[in-house]
Amino acid sequence: MSVLVINSGSSSIKYQLVNPETGEAIASGLVERIGEESGHVEHHFGEVTRELNGPVPDHGAGLETVLGLFAEVGPSLTDGSISAVGHRVVQGGKYFDGPALITDEVQARIEQLCPLAPLHNPAHLKGIIVARRLLPDVPHVAVFDTAFFQSLPGEAATYALDRAVAEKYEIRRYGAHGTSHQYVSGKVSELLERDDLKQIVLHLGNGASASAVVNGKAVETSMGLTPLEGLVMGGRTGDIDPAVVFHLSRVAGMSIDQIDNLFNRQSGLKGLTGENDMRAVWDMAEAGDANAIEALEVYAHRIVKYIGSYTAIMGGLDAITFTAGAGENDNKLRAMVAERLAPFGVKLDAEINAVRSKEPRVISTADSSVKLIVLPTNEELAIARQAMTLV
Ligand code: ADP
Repeated sequence: MSVLVINSGSSSIKYQLVNPETGEAIASGLVERIGEESGHVEHHFGEVTRELNGPVPDHGAGLETVLGLFAEVGPSLTDGSISAVGHRVVQGGKYFDGPALITDEVQARIEQLCPLAPLHNPAHLKGIIVARRLLPDVPHVAVFDTAFFQSLPGEAATYALDRAVAEKYEIRRYGAHGTSHQYVSGKVSELLERDDLKQIVLHLGNGASASAVVNGKAVETSMGLTPLEGLVMGGRTGDIDPAVVFHLSRVAGMSIDQIDNLFNRQSGLKGLTGENDMRAVWDMAEAGDANAIEALEVYAHRIVKYIGSYTAIMGGLDAITFTAGAGENDNKLRAMVAERLAPFGVKLDAEINAVRSKEPRVISTADSSVKLIVLPTNEELAIARQAMTLV
């Protein structure tokens, strides 16, 4: 039994064939630079890696190449072993609070939601359309990044905006990375053997978000209408006074598209240091670069600000979990966050924190007021498991 998980981006398709029971990634790969002159496809199965270079004109051609590689290199997708195709979809709006079997109607909804996720939904839609055409005999399931946050209380989801405007244009906090926050917070409950937890999950990848989860339900999250709000990210500002938009428009004469690009791609760590990869920022900081040192401080400060506010909102805190690229791998960043929480009795076990591992682990000392945890996220497995609930 396996599920083919597809994450279709504007110029890429990432995929993984997952065993939803064991979590094993049976095969994986990606198509990059779709529509450009120098396309690239790579497919991994067991010890074998197959790479192809050359133009990939569109998503349909990309997925056809991938299916060709499955047929040639393995494993077979046509022997009846795949139970479902799970598609990652960033924006499900108010319509989806869980996974959905993709029908023409569901597909139309995803299309209708494109204005709320202009960078993501159109790309997912392309992947869904070609995958349904090329794999017509398997159920296709959409798994939404926003679904976990549909349960946010009104006071957390509502912006203090004119009601009529907000309603007409469906403006609210939708959140994102929900599949990861749901998976990780569930795993934390298993690790600590407790369902009654007040926890904060910090998903610190290239995109970064925080969530507050009480007894398994999300009560707050840092991403908003779009994934721009909240923590400092690789290329995104995170929180910023919206009046900066007016100022840049009026005083700098920038267009809305230029400001969109500035906030979503040229800001965050990249804007502060020139680099959006956390490792590169650390290298600069360790070489004494003042901008990089400050960028790390801004990054950690923002995280701590969220931890404080979420603790107040939840009326307490049992666990803080670090996940995704920087959360799982960057022990120095975790130490910066823990140090700032020391006045509240949070104590990091420096030795355990320094150990590199793919295993979920508690990295605080036994007498810490809050458990600090590192827990690798696995969005593909989470999507595969959610897809299986519908087939
Ligand atoms: P996404 O899925 O959002 O593209 P990832 O979860 O793969 O991102 O995380 C990417 C981020 O993780 C990058 O900023 C990268 O620098 C950071 N990262 C990965 N490994 C390390 C490491 N060893 N130390 C610090 N940061 C790391």
